[in-house]
Amino acid sequence: MFTDEYFMKMALQEAEIAFEKDEVPIGCVVVSNNRVIARAHNLTETLNDVTAHAEMQAITSAANFLGGKYLVNCTLYVTLEPCVMCSGALSWSQISKVVIGARDEQRGFINKNLSLHSKTEIVSGIMENECSSIVKEFFKAKR
Ligand SMILES: [Zn+2]
Repeated sequence: MFTDEYFMKMALQEAEIAFEKDEVPIGCVVVSNNRVIARAHNLTETLNDVTAHAEMQAITSAANFLGGKYLVNCTLYVTLEPCVMCSGALSWSQISKVVIGARDEQRGFINKNLSLHSKTEIVSGIMENECSSIVKEFFKAKR
């Protein structure tokens, strides 16, 4: 039951909430012991804050929940590959695993030859089509 797809679907629901708020639709959840401990979506427009990416908020929220800054035994599910800023924050968090929906060839950290913390396992391509099409749809509507 608690598959990568199961939690990615929840991240996608967060992306849909962002879409409805006219935010670039990216969402994520942080899971610990099969339990969602943080959920967030991009809020850069709402908060007027370029750092308000879904991952940044989820990292803060998960750390608050755990009462510690390191996200040990936690997995982040995010619909789009994290950018350089978020990958830096994820490295500092020492998160155990990051599961990515769709790749972001331009702004993602992977093509910048960056890596996360040495302890962090990375999985990519979970519900890739759904995760990328919501972003494409958003920008198509903008044009
Ligand atoms: Zn980011």
